[in-house]
Amino acid sequence: MTDPEYDIVVVGGGVAGLSASVFTARADFETLVLDAGESILRRNAHLENFPGFPAGINARQLLDLLGDQAKAAGVERQTATVTTVTATDDGFTVESEDGDRYESEYVIAATKNETSYLDGVEGVGLLDRGKTFLDTDEHGRTGVDGLYAAGRLAEKPHQAVVCAGHGAEVAVTLLEDDDTPFYHDWVAPTGYFTDRGREVPPGCEEIDGTESRRREDESRAVLRDALAEPHPDEQETHPSLTGE
Ligand SMILES: Cc1cc2nc3c(=O)[nH]c(=O)nc-3n(C[C@H](O)[C@H](O)[C@H](O)COP(=O)(O)OP(=O)(O)OC[C@H]3O[C@@H](n4cnc5c(N)ncnc54)[C@H](O)[C@@H]3O)c2cc1C
Repeated sequence: MTDPEYDIVVVGGGVAGLSASVFTARADFETLVLDAGESILRRNAHLENFPGFPAGINARQLLDLLGDQAKAAGVERQTATVTTVTATDDGFTVESEDGDRYESEYVIAATKNETSYLDGVEGVGLLDRGKTFLDTDEHGRTGVDGLYAAGRLAEKPHQAVVCAGHGAEVAVTLLEDDDTPFYHDWVAPTGYFTDRGREVPPGCEEIDGTESRRREDESRAVLRDALAEPHPDEQETHPSLTGE
């Protein structure tokens, strides 16, 4: 028996999948995101209810920033349409339209209403409510060991922040279900734990004031660059309006 090449394959890199991947990669789980590149958020005309942007933000810009954040966390990303997921003794084999195969211990499905690639996985519950959803518990567990669902696919409200938040919740649930020790993903000031006689808990980090300022400077530079110009991508619309 060989270890799978990835700990986690996330299928779907919209807000839910990318958000999940940031948490799993930051917990040192080898994380691959396979995404067909068609987040429905690309159709938004101006995103005004995502926390942290007082005057809103271009939704395609937000997806780019989330992608950059995933990359910074150590996530590997590929543009690919997943056609098949198969359960194996060690986890899952994930296959793409191009014939590429990936082995992973866990799969997080975050593909909004697309589920056909899961047809071969025994025990997956589908909910047909006009659109298809996966039957999960509140934390995204599907009932199939190692297979989780996040965001709209898990019937969360059709709002970007809810789907992003659910992606994070599913990732934390997975980390807690795994044997690896995990407390919270927190960055705390030096001494926050250790000055109280505690070890820094797994998943947490203590940083001093200099490092805190260095990271703040880096974040300001990254955001300045990202927001310096209008986003170049065209506004997308519903396929029925373009005759596709
Ligand atoms: C016109 C419009 C305006 C909106 N405006 C707002 C708004 O103002 N505020 C708000 O909160 N929400 C808004 N939304 C809703 C928001 O976009 C969604 O709720 C959110 O994007 C859902 O996140 P998700 O990650 O579950 O799905 P998505 O963001 O759609 O991501 C799913 C990803 O899975 C990929 N995928 C699918 N199948 C496969 C496969 N087989 N293999 C690989 N990848 C696959 C897709 O390409 C996509 O990238 C709007 C939606 C629309 C249509």
